[in-house]
Amino acid sequence: MPEPLVQIAVPAPLHGYFDYRLPAGAPMPAPGARVEIPFGRQRLIGVVRAPVAHTDTPDARLRALHRVLDPDEPCLPAELVALAEWAAAYYHHPPGEVFQTLLPVLLRQGEAAEAQQLQHWRCTAQGQQIPLKQLRRAPRQAALLQRLRAADQALSPSSLPEEGDWRGAFRALVEKGLAEALERPGYGLIEGSGESVAPALNAEQQAACEALLGQAAGFRASLLDGVTGSGKTEVYLAAIGETLAAGRQALVLVPEIGLTPQLLDRFRRRYAVPIAVLHSALNERERLNAWLAAARGEARLIIGTRSAVFTPLAEPGLIVVDEEHDLSFKQQDGFRYSARDLSLVRARKLDIPIILGSATPSLESLANARAGRYQHLRLSRRAGAARPPRFQVLDARGKPLEGGLTPQLMETMRRHLDQDGQVLLFLNRRGFAPVLMCHECGWVAGCPRCDARLTWHRRAGRLRCHHCGHEARLRPHCPDCQSVDLRPIGQGTEQLESVLREHFPEQGVLRIDRDSTRRKGELQRLLEQAHAGEARLLLGTQMLAKGHDLPNITLVGIIDADQGLFGADFRAPERLGQLVVQVAGRSGRAEKPGEVAIQTHHPDHPLLQVLIHHGYERLAEQQLAERRAAGLPPYAHLALLRAEAVDPGPPEDFLEAARRQADALGLPGVQLLGPVPAPMERRAGRYRAQLLLQAFERRDLHRLLGVWVAGLGKLKEARKVRWSMDVDPLEML
Ligand code: ADP
Ligand code: ZN
Ligand code: ZN
Repeated sequence: MPEPLVQIAVPAPLHGYFDYRLPAGAPMPAPGARVEIPFGRQRLIGVVRAPVAHTDTPDARLRALHRVLDPDEPCLPAELVALAEWAAAYYHHPPGEVFQTLLPVLLRQGEAAEAQQLQHWRCTAQGQQIPLKQLRRAPRQAALLQRLRAADQALSPSSLPEEGDWRGAFRALVEKGLAEALERPGYGLIEGSGESVAPALNAEQQAACEALLGQAAGFRASLLDGVTGSGKTEVYLAAIGETLAAGRQALVLVPEIGLTPQLLDRFRRRYAVPIAVLHSALNERERLNAWLAAARGEARLIIGTRSAVFTPLAEPGLIVVDEEHDLSFKQQDGFRYSARDLSLVRARKLDIPIILGSATPSLESLANARAGRYQHLRLSRRAGAARPPRFQVLDARGKPLEGGLTPQLMETMRRHLDQDGQVLLFLNRRGFAPVLMCHECGWVAGCPRCDARLTWHRRAGRLRCHHCGHEARLRPHCPDCQSVDLRPIGQGTEQLESVLREHFPEQGVLRIDRDSTRRKGELQRLLEQAHAGEARLLLGTQMLAKGHDLPNITLVGIIDADQGLFGADFRAPERLGQLVVQVAGRSGRAEKPGEVAIQTHHPDHPLLQVLIHHGYERLAEQQLAERRAAGLPPYAHLALLRAEAVDPGPPEDFLEAARRQADALGLPGVQLLGPVPAPMERRAGRYRAQLLLQAFERRDLHRLLGVWVAGLGKLKEARKVRWSMDVDPLEML
């Protein structure tokens, strides 16, 4: 009788699966079960892929696994095992690392797949009684105490979904004797209230819903393409409602900063079901509990960011990807998967519908819709009372600028403020100035570890590299000529903020960027202030561009559109279009009509002209035509082999060797371009180079990758570099 063997996905950066023996008399573990295995001198926790009948591993090297961690029920269901296999093959990434990515950290470490007690919070008798105004100075503590009082049972900390330092507030309340902790079983789910009633849908929304729901069950991909405020979320809510009513679970993926309390609240108020929210503030225990709750069907609605695409579902019924164009769905290091693309694969495997929604769909999704692979559902008008914003281009050429603002923009801002409007200024560059230059000799403060300039952060008195995090104290003299005449060139948000405070001293000014929101909970606090209208002038980076509903904004100013007009990346026009439309979408959400002012030195640039006169759809059409002519995605398929090392030679040597290997394989249909230095060759002290692969047929590309990538690690040149494969790269940096 042949010996029982299993194939294991071993968490190591190695291509391929590994075969193991079963210990004598042990029952065969199911695919998806975790096993402890010897690997070299280590003991690792791997995942069973499948039993196998024979092995190529020589007898002497074949080892037995130590034990099975999930003997009764595999912790990954068969469907996720298949998804992991698919992803490892498609992204040409070591399968063990892919399987790891699917598991919550505690399961990777070998913890039992069981929900454990969670700490819950409640208020003490004293906490019930004290007047809330005693906590006037500590608004977060007051807010928490108010919640604890209102709750009829102890709260799980993870049911406080807003990001923010609730734990700190809780500790402070405990010290004052106002609150206490207790251990209780529970998954930390949010109980939806179901108190809100769906509005009567307008004709377009109804048509979209019918197209989504009116057909037979089964896999169907739909692109819900609707301008900001057109009521896409209401359409998701309707589709999710149907799914829940049919006794199935819905999985909703949102971008990293799209998971706003406002959005969560809409879900929570609409459905009286347990909701699992997978957000970054969960600790590992809470994350595991939520994961298990989804796997066991106790959570009916699961909302999360990128990695939530791998959440196990007991009764899957629907997947929604909101803001499907968003870059945060793509993992940018390690296992570089696209959560949007994988959710399509998963929906197909599960045979359930999937909705991709956006006001500015990616060109990939638009091309799929055009090719008939997705049904294309359009919402062309804003729902409710809001009107579309009016665009104007402000010519910045030859104008005196203050903090980057033209007099015309200042005037427009005044007009809106006088009429009780709220103004949002968008500048995608934090810090005071992106360049600091010596006026005597032209010396520029550069990063010693990157091919990049250091940004001057005036308030902190420091120079910082936004690429590697390098920091230096600002010295009063030029290091080359000793001159004290060091001048900032260009503007960042910190400078814009100080100019605004100077010119509009009577208005509150709020800056929202990564610097101003570093402290936990700060973003939430600032957004609440913005929402409450306490500050009339908001400025910020892309953090401000997404999802937040700020109904009083009547003017959106885009300070520097030129940054996006001349990007080196072929996706720059698409990104600029998305950004402008998304930022513009913040204006005129309620009854007040909105205005969008775009400042530029290239007012006649065709991209801007198309965008403001014909909208994103036309821009996308033109871009698609250009991509087709140039042989670029979505009409061609790319993969990028990257390499980096401390010395400049090895990355290119490795890529040259890799290229020779690929050429020697003699497979047709794939063009290799490079190796070339990366656009930013030196970053964080390492030299970087890349080799681009381009093919018109995905098949051809994958045939080559399939025989080529697994062997790259064996090249002697590979020993001196770190390398990685990026299939469908979104950024060429
Ligand atoms: P999107 O997700 O496309 O940005 P939302 O679903 O958030 O749009 O809708 C924008 C605003 O319009 C929200 O305040 C929403 O409550 C409202 N709204 C959406 N659909 C309707 C409708 N059919 N009737 C009335 N108000 C609606
Ligand atoms: Zn100098
Ligand atoms: Zn740097």
